[in-house]
Amino acid sequence: MPADWQAAFDAARAPCPPDRLEILKDRAVAAFLGLAIGDALGATVEFLTPREVRAQYGTHKDIVGGGWLHLKPGRVTDDTDMSLALGRAILDRGGRIEARAAAEAFSAWMSRKPVDIGHTVRRGISAYRRSGVPFVPDNPMNAGNGGIMRVLPVALATLGAPWAEVVRAARLQAHVTHTCELADAGMEIAVALVQTALAAPEADLAALAVLAERATAAWPDLSPAGKPEAGPTAFVGHTLRAVFQALGAAANLETGLLDVVNRGGDADTTGAILGMILGAACGTAALPKRWTKKLDPATARACTDQASALIAFSPAASGLDRPVTG
Ligand SMILES: [Mg+2]
Repeated sequence: MPADWQAAFDAARAPCPPDRLEILKDRAVAAFLGLAIGDALGATVEFLTPREVRAQYGTHKDIVGGGWLHLKPGRVTDDTDMSLALGRAILDRGGRIEARAAAEAFSAWMSRKPVDIGHTVRRGISAYRRSGVPFVPDNPMNAGNGGIMRVLPVALATLGAPWAEVVRAARLQAHVTHTCELADAGMEIAVALVQTALAAPEADLAALAVLAERATAAWPDLSPAGKPEAGPTAFVGHTLRAVFQALGAAANLETGLLDVVNRGGDADTTGAILGMILGAACGTAALPKRWTKKLDPATARACTDQASALIAFSPAASGLDRPVTG
């Protein structure tokens, strides 16, 4: 972790002062709702090229459902549903992240016949069902975005824990299906951005974009530098380049999310990841009403309830320096 990044992140590890707890909770809720909104918004244009998005929608800016999954408006996909499954498993264990509990939660989710499921995710869960081992072997082919899109509950429950513990917790859930150095690096940068945003005195998107640039300096595949990422795939390099580029250009939560989903490609997941970062930075007041009103009510309620409960378990909010894994 670069030194100046470390300084920003250390600030995020400090216990939250009591007069800031409501703000922290509001940002946690906005992060979870931002994830779901990005997912619901992006799913409409998943797998389209930017040109196809433009031809069909001009600028795609409303939650209208449809897409290749033929979703009802406001319905979400695996990104949000796996996050909620993981969040439930963490809450059931008093705020602790445990690999087997995550694997069981993902397996139960797969049994419910989800609307969509990625290849690597299906393969990992199937391997767990056969072997009982809640992690897959290291494999560069696992450099997909599946471990990142569902990591938010870990970022919330571990806020304020030592960074090594945060990393350990994030990897426990990711490695159920994705074990890969590059995917881990991308996930950890996303978690650090969310946690830094949650704890910052105020929303500073430019500062977050600088953190993303510096943190990716050692990982050229993830760096936002270079030509605009159009039609990003589920490869973590494509996904996060699009997310970090849109973060760097974002005037606010709404313009950032519109930028990233209108790039098409894996738009539900780029939307979900940028949505959690921008929600954590900006709070619920920044979520456009036309999006929050369209979100499936049961999903919105679950995201809100889980975010509040997960952040309450965090060392930063609870003031308790308890173990976050195991
Ligand atoms: Mg999805």
